[in-house]
Amino acid sequence: MNQPDVQPVSPLAEVQSRIAAAARIAGRDPAEVALVAISKTRPAEAILPLIAAGQRIFGENRVAEAEAKWPALREAHGDIALHLVGQLQSNKADEAVALFDCIHSLDRSSLVGALARAMDKAGRRLPCFVQVNIGDEAQKGGCAIATLPALLAEARGADIPLAGLMCVPPLDIEPTPFFALLDKLADDHGLAGLSMGMSGDFETAIQLGATHVRVGSALFGARA
Ligand SMILES: *Cc1c(COP(=O)(O)O)cnc(C)c1O
Repeated sequence: MNQPDVQPVSPLAEVQSRIAAAARIAGRDPAEVALVAISKTRPAEAILPLIAAGQRIFGENRVAEAEAKWPALREAHGDIALHLVGQLQSNKADEAVALFDCIHSLDRSSLVGALARAMDKAGRRLPCFVQVNIGDEAQKGGCAIATLPALLAEARGADIPLAGLMCVPPLDIEPTPFFALLDKLADDHGLAGLSMGMSGDFETAIQLGATHVRVGSALFGARA
């Protein structure tokens, strides 16, 4: 029997087409939505095919893991942007500024100071998203909504380039209201970028204005 000559669709191509479809439904240009491929816990063999297929923005959540993996991977392609999406300890600010191109987890005053000093020392300024604890959850990273105005003022005073706001909404609840609230907060503060949406909810996030979706398992499979 003749097999039809159909190429299997790669997870990357599928995520890209879902992003484009969600953007079009929302009346947005798909090019306004950056895909950050979250490669935490993934070995180089899993990451290289995405680089070969043209993916250029990757995200990691631990400085030490990224330092071990990415210098070699970057030799595969010089034009890769690396984003930090996990909590950053102040004593790792120098390493983070040296390695990453964007930080999604600026969430407290002490880190504003540490990052500003690290950026001064390195002579490079990285765009940062301020992470908001949008569901007011005790265990979650992110600044409280009430402290956001002061933190933004402090970051601006320290000359940290602000990319926008980032959130991880509570698990197992409809995320729409949380995305809508983050969009309003960004609007109130004159910020254009919205880092929101993960494998389970990136289409919803795009409807609500996401400019950066952080997608891991939909690209690489379930994490162990
Ligand atoms: C792991 C992680 C993601 C990706 O999660 P998936 O559900 O695998 O898409 C996104 N954002 C942050 C902050 C993460 O830690």
